[in-house]
Amino acid sequence: MVESGLRRLIKLKAALYSGGSTARFLRMAAEEYVGTLPDKACVDCGSSSKVIHQLETLTCTVGDKIHTVKVKGVPMYQCEK
Ligand SMILES: [Zn+2]
Repeated sequence: MVESGLRRLIKLKAALYSGGSTARFLRMAAEEYVGTLPDKACVDCGSSSKVIHQLETLTCTVGDKIHTVKVKGVPMYQCEK
């Protein structure tokens, strides 16, 4: 079972690096991760597209209140045509 093996590995690493907290270990791993998106053709026209980082505004409802959350630096593809 690949998944249970992976879970065991994550728990072991969590025990080693974050005092046994799997949630904390995953948060630390996400913060350390610096990925780059590969170049990709535009899905609409097939010409090249580049990765840009934009401000994204999200809304969510908590209780009966609507909140607006702004997230900086969200990577997305933009057509170069
Ligand atoms: Zn395009």
